[in-house]
Amino acid sequence: MSAQDPITTGIDARPAATEPAEPARGRRGVFIKAYGCQMNVYDSERMAGLLAPLGYRPVDTPAEADLVVLNTCHIREKAAEKLYSDLGRLKEAKAARAGGMMVAVAGCVAQAEGAEIPRRAPIVDIVVGPQAYHRLPELIAKAARGKGEALDTEFAVEEKFDVLARDRAAPGVSAFVTVQEGCDKFCTFCVVPYTRGAEISRSASAIIAETRALASKGVAEVTLIGQNVNAWRDGDKGLGALCRALAKIDGVERIRFTTSHPRDMDDALIEALGEEPKLMPYLHLPAQSGSDRILAAMNRGHTAADYLKIIGRVRAARPDIALSGDFIVGFPGETDEEFEATLGLVRAVGYAAAFSFKYSRRPGTPAASMPKQVAEAVKDERLARLQSLLTAQRDAFCAALVGRTLPVLFEKPGRRPGQLIGRTPYLQSLHASAPASLLGKVAPVRVLAVTPNALAGELAEARGTEPQDAEAARG
Ligand code: SAM
Ligand code: SF4
Repeated sequence: MSAQDPITTGIDARPAATEPAEPARGRRGVFIKAYGCQMNVYDSERMAGLLAPLGYRPVDTPAEADLVVLNTCHIREKAAEKLYSDLGRLKEAKAARAGGMMVAVAGCVAQAEGAEIPRRAPIVDIVVGPQAYHRLPELIAKAARGKGEALDTEFAVEEKFDVLARDRAAPGVSAFVTVQEGCDKFCTFCVVPYTRGAEISRSASAIIAETRALASKGVAEVTLIGQNVNAWRDGDKGLGALCRALAKIDGVERIRFTTSHPRDMDDALIEALGEEPKLMPYLHLPAQSGSDRILAAMNRGHTAADYLKIIGRVRAARPDIALSGDFIVGFPGETDEEFEATLGLVRAVGYAAAFSFKYSRRPGTPAASMPKQVAEAVKDERLARLQSLLTAQRDAFCAALVGRTLPVLFEKPGRRPGQLIGRTPYLQSLHASAPASLLGKVAPVRVLAVTPNALAGELAEARGTEPQDAEAARG
């Protein structure tokens, strides 16, 4: 999972027309801004679902909102500064809004800063940590009663899993399912163990029940998410067994999972990747660095050779697997040779996709106070070199798909009339002319070209699919 630009869920999280309406409470607008990772996008969708029965409908701008939720991310960059500058802008919108506006700060910055937030920005009514979203309705009521700002940054993750799963907005064709939260690994650069708490797994029965409910609403693909998704455990069962159990659910055509940690890649998961056709041939396995000294300083718990060995085992089990990774350049003390080792690892693996970042000093983490912090200009130069290699690998991967016929799951209408957008098993977005009746279905598509952000294709006869793409026939 990787931080990206802020994502606004005001539109995507729009609840289904069938959800329970409560006209007595009146119609209210909610604007939710999610910063950062998939986990935050998922939590924002769940919040929208949770607020719908209270009469809140997503709106497109804060100016239209009775409730604004800023769902923050702390992983990199100046997260707190970004939040306070957004709150500065909201001050005017709040003052201008005749009916009033409630402002909630959620997510990892809320967890880290707590009561400091309303002290610095008195327009904030609610502060809610990542493990307490399910108590939002309660906190809104408390804030509305004027009992000062409502604050909840407790860790009570199991309760949150279940409440948020129940109150889910329209899920679409592909949906995230949280299976695991938190992290105990304490990589020296990372804030997650401090903001998201200890590693905790949701029970298999709750995950299966949520997936069944999603499948009954037309979801064909589930992506299991967690900070360390492959650390998931229920008794003696790991993620491989969970994926096999989910594959038995009618209507579930595709299963993915992210983000995995190299230390938790066990044999059962690798075997499932090789044997379970509904498990898609795509693995996001962050490497961070190709230098053993840097990996040790990061406290990753594996060497570059260990990582390559895992990749070898995965490829032996699933030869067509598309690999993705996360990389950090400019970790404190990283020398030119150590950076070259990262380039070497990337060349040895050959990635279909990747996320790469400049090391960002996170207050309170061990690496923030390590000596020999790397100059910004050096980080910039290393990032540019790494990204040009990763981009070339991604382009080569996509170019090799041209001419092949792949099973594509169609997820939504395209921009042009008569066009649908879907995904290949290897996670590339693909557009093709196709009837709307194929929405939510897997169909064989011949890849015609690589465009800047996607692949272009045309529907092919089911008969023409490649043997390994038999999945299409099921669609
Ligand atoms: N748990 C996953 C793992 O360890 O493989 C990754 C989860 S982390 C939320 C997502 C990515 O953000 C990491 O893999 C790392 O590359 C990046 N990241 C985390 N902290 C960072 C920092 N201080 N500076 C730069 N990148 C960072
Ligand atoms: Fe952060 Fe490391 Fe945990 Fe991933 S494994 S969430 S990078 S501490």
